[in-house]
Amino acid sequence: MDLKSKIRVIEDFPKKGISFKDITTLLKDGEAYKYLVRELSDQLKNLNVDVIVGPEARGFLIGTPVAYDLGVGFVPIRKPGKLPAETISYEYELEYGTDLLQIHKDAIRPGQRVAILDDLLATGGTVLATAKLIEQLGGQVVSINFLIELNFLQGRDVLQDYEVHSLVQYE
Ligand code: 5GP
Repeated sequence: MDLKSKIRVIEDFPKKGISFKDITTLLKDGEAYKYLVRELSDQLKNLNVDVIVGPEARGFLIGTPVAYDLGVGFVPIRKPGKLPAETISYEYELEYGTDLLQIHKDAIRPGQRVAILDDLLATGGTVLATAKLIEQLGGQVVSINFLIELNFLQGRDVLQDYEVHSLVQYE
C-alpha cells in the first residue's frame, strides 16, 4: 500500500513556511492504519523487544497498536507535570529555547530491550531525548521506527548511535 498517498500535507501549519504532514487522514482509514501497524510490527518482530516507548501524543497512536500486536508493554513519554508517579526528566534544545520530557522512574528495568516509535522524524530532538531517558534507566534502545522521515532536516545525524527506520520519506 502507498502510505504516502494517505498522508495529507498542510502548507503553513502551524506557522508560515512549515509544510505539516497530517497523519489523521491515514489513521481514519482502517485498512491503511492496519497496514501501518503490520509494517512496523514486522520491522520489530525478530528483535526480542521487551517494551515499546512512544512520546506524546502521536507516538501513542503509532506505538500502542504495535505493542499490542507484538504482545509487549507500552511506556509513555510525556511533557512535564503529566505523569503521576516519580519521574526523571531530560531537557533538550528547540529552535527557540528548550523543552523537557519525562518518563516514570520505574517504567524500564535495566537491561530491557526497547524500541522507540513515533510518527515523524524532523530534527531528531524528541526521539534523542526519549533515548536518553531510556538509557538513564538502564534500558537498551534496539530500534527507532517512524512512519515519516523529513530527509532535509537530517534528523538521522543526531541519531547515529541507533538503528533508525522510516516507512515514508519527504525530500
Ligand atoms: P523533532 O524532535 O524530530 O524535531 O520533531 C518530531 C516531533 O514533532 C514528532 O513527535 C512529531 O509528532 C512532531 N512533528 C513535527 N513536524 C511534524 C509534522 O509535519 N507532522 C506531524 N504529524 N508531526 C510533526
